[in-house]
Amino acid sequence: MEFQKGAILILSGPSGCGKSTLLKEVYKHIEDYYFSISTTTRNPRVGEQNGVDYYFTTKEEFEKGIESGEFLEYAKVHDNYYGTSLKPINEALSQGKLVIFDIDVQGHEIVREKLDSIVTSVFITTPSLKVLDERLKARNTDDIEVIEKRLKNAKIEINSIDKYDYFLVNDDLIEASSKLVSIAKIARIKASLFDKDFIVKNWLN
Ligand code: ADP
Ligand code: 5GP
Repeated sequence: MEFQKGAILILSGPSGCGKSTLLKEVYKHIEDYYFSISTTTRNPRVGEQNGVDYYFTTKEEFEKGIESGEFLEYAKVHDNYYGTSLKPINEALSQGKLVIFDIDVQGHEIVREKLDSIVTSVFITTPSLKVLDERLKARNTDDIEVIEKRLKNAKIEINSIDKYDYFLVNDDLIEASSKLVSIAKIARIKASLFDKDFIVKNWLN
């Protein structure tokens, strides 16, 4: 794969921990990034827009995409499919962009296996499960059964923190977003170190 110029930043963490809110802050301080819009079979929440938050699709269409090799990675999360299409990621990386993913722990493992040298990852969570519960309820976008499912999944996902480069507690928004800006900047530097052949060839000249 010709993925030399760009870098990848993966954010994972329980639904409701504040990934989207943090990213809005981070975007004010970084440049030349591309947020990977995932495809999902879950229903849009109030206020979510097709092609902005997600590409919303049916289970049948998603499964066709799996068969035709459309996805860099995909996973079943809370009984719905979620996946990252390969083509736009390829394009953004070849343009040297910092590609930002909001994907679950299963997706993180797959992308790591495929593109390890240009990946930096961060697991984000709330100070406690109780705070997560409060945030999900305050967000007021999901039914109580959906919230229960997300909390159950969060208890499992937290066990994967050691597979990530960074662990970030989103308590104070400004403090957490400032740390995330630093991680986003270092993600680029890490990826640039891995074009070893290019560096060595030029250094010898
Ligand atoms: P995610 O994208 O991880 O599912 P959201 O960004 O939608 O989570 O955040 C979930 C809820 O928590 C939202 O209502 C948001 O306003 C709130 N929130 C996010 N970060 C904080 C924070 N640091 N302190 C308090 N509330 C927060
Ligand atoms: P939500 O329904 O709250 O938007 O997302 C639920 C979970 O799915 C979150 O953990 C989110 O990170 C994950 N997710 C979103 N898009 C993708 C994707 O393309 N691939 C994978 N593996 N997970 C995703």
